[in-house]
Amino acid sequence: MILFKHPEKQREYAELRPELRKVVREIERVAWEKFGDEIVVTSMYRGDSSKSVHAWYRGIDIAILEHGGLEGSEWVRSYINQKYPYGKLGCETVPPLDHGTAAHLHVQII
Ligand SMILES: [Zn+2]
Repeated sequence: MILFKHPEKQREYAELRPELRKVVREIERVAWEKFGDEIVVTSMYRGDSSKSVHAWYRGIDIAILEHGGLEGSEWVRSYINQKYPYGKLGCETVPPLDHGTAAHLHVQII
């Protein structure tokens, strides 16, 4: 199940690029099958910078898995990057996790 941290922004999900939603559904599936975790979308559209993939509906932030923890998130990150290469040298579909206070998977497509 895909949960939304900000339910009032849930409609942005339908605006995301279809290829990105496909990756999100895959994350949803493996998070559930491997860790029994739901995923929580924390951020989608952000118009703050046209340089950000978020401004083009090509990026989404997904909160850290509850049961899988950081280790689980790293597993998901590596799995997704193998299955869905970003297609541009030096870039990844899920870049390294920021292990700071708000650890999350940033997921992007080209
Ligand atoms: Zn992001």
